[in-house]
Amino acid sequence: MEGTELVILGGGESGVGAALLAKSLGMRVFVSDSNPLQEKYRNILKREAIPFEEGCHTEDRVFSATEVIKSPGIPDDAPLVAEVYRRNISVISEIEFASRYTDSTLIGITGSNGKTTTTLLIYHLLAQAGLSVGLAGNIGDSFARQIMEGKKEVYVLELSSFQLDNMYQFRADVAVLLNITPDHLDRYRYDFQKYVDSKFRITQNQTEADEFIYFSDSHPIPVELVKRPFHAKQLPISLSRQVSEGGFLIDETLIVKRADVEFRIQRNELPIQGPHNAVNAMAAILVAQRMGLTDEQIINGLRTFKNAPHRLELVGVYDGVSYINDSKATNVDSVYYALGSFDRPIILIAGGVDKGNDYSQIKELVQKKVKGLIVIGKDTTKLMTYFSDIVPQIYSTDSLEEALVMAKSWSVPYDVVLLSPACASFDMFKNYVDRGDQFRSQVQNMFTKN
Ligand code: ADP
Repeated sequence: MEGTELVILGGGESGVGAALLAKSLGMRVFVSDSNPLQEKYRNILKREAIPFEEGCHTEDRVFSATEVIKSPGIPDDAPLVAEVYRRNISVISEIEFASRYTDSTLIGITGSNGKTTTTLLIYHLLAQAGLSVGLAGNIGDSFARQIMEGKKEVYVLELSSFQLDNMYQFRADVAVLLNITPDHLDRYRYDFQKYVDSKFRITQNQTEADEFIYFSDSHPIPVELVKRPFHAKQLPISLSRQVSEGGFLIDETLIVKRADVEFRIQRNELPIQGPHNAVNAMAAILVAQRMGLTDEQIINGLRTFKNAPHRLELVGVYDGVSYINDSKATNVDSVYYALGSFDRPIILIAGGVDKGNDYSQIKELVQKKVKGLIVIGKDTTKLMTYFSDIVPQIYSTDSLEEALVMAKSWSVPYDVVLLSPACASFDMFKNYVDRGDQFRSQVQNMFTKN
């Protein structure tokens, strides 16, 4: 291997994890990041004597690589990366790299929305049932680091389209595709087909022994855009029709069926609410069945699951009004499902940085359910113009506190005040977590102060 070197672009969790795994395998490795590294990662690289640079890329060294592992955050059209491709150097993601060094069962989850919820639920079901299971991908410690640290029976991997882009040999024993709606199109030259192709990579290399679980309703999966042949056993999930094997709803009962088993549960017994979460839950139950869990283990797991915050999180009920933090709803589709989750009048707080949103998808629901819209943030014009004739009352502000005072004054018992912004948060907040945290604490303050 003299003279050959693995170069890792990006020294965050995935890059440093890949570097640690590479070193443990005896490879020569170099980490290069155009930004300063976080101190914890700098310390790890120093401690492990892994060479690195930060704040710059030494082009000669990058271009002499035998293979490059690229952080999912770096776009393909960054000049350095474009040149790496031009030189025909193989560029892979950290997940692809780590997957070469494990024969554990791999469960991959992707979709425009619902990845984290479904990944956490699958992880929880399997862990509760006593399987040795790792949680990785877009979440937690990097997959590579976990592979280096020791073998788990199964890994549950949340996979973004950016990670899937640089995966070639990776094969999921079970692949889950929750939905595909326009998002991140700036990274795909505004070509929706490219984004769809990326998502469908989750099924690549699958064989008849593997499974492909997917949401099959015509909205929002653009079936006509699917260009990939499938070899895996297909298990569709539908909210609108029955399927012979897969998951579906009859009235309020979820039915998850395979040739030899059938699992039923009432929707109101699920730990997560709304039609989208019925899809997420059915996907998780199908995975659990595949992994051999009994009905009892599945029910126990569902009972004890608690979702991550900022996803339709109930902050509290004050004066009979439910305050819901759905700050993670950064695109229109997630707001569509948030609105569909309540049969009560809604005061919706939305807005922020518009990502080229098309609000026609939620027009009807807004008309039906939203009694007041409060628009916050930078790009208020589009929302104000689109909805001013649709909702009975509308208000715009650049203060979350003021938005909440307004929401409170509009509300009566049984209403829902829902923060589900459809937009990114960078104008007023650090990120969606900060936005949701501020919403939660300001709601709590508003009621404990008085
Ligand atoms: P991701 O990791 O894909 O961003 P999350 O589980 O963090 O997904 O949820 C992001 C947002 O999407 C939340 O507002 C959540 O309520 C909503 N959501 C969750 N599951 C789905 C789904 N299956 N379809 C549409 N929206 C969903």
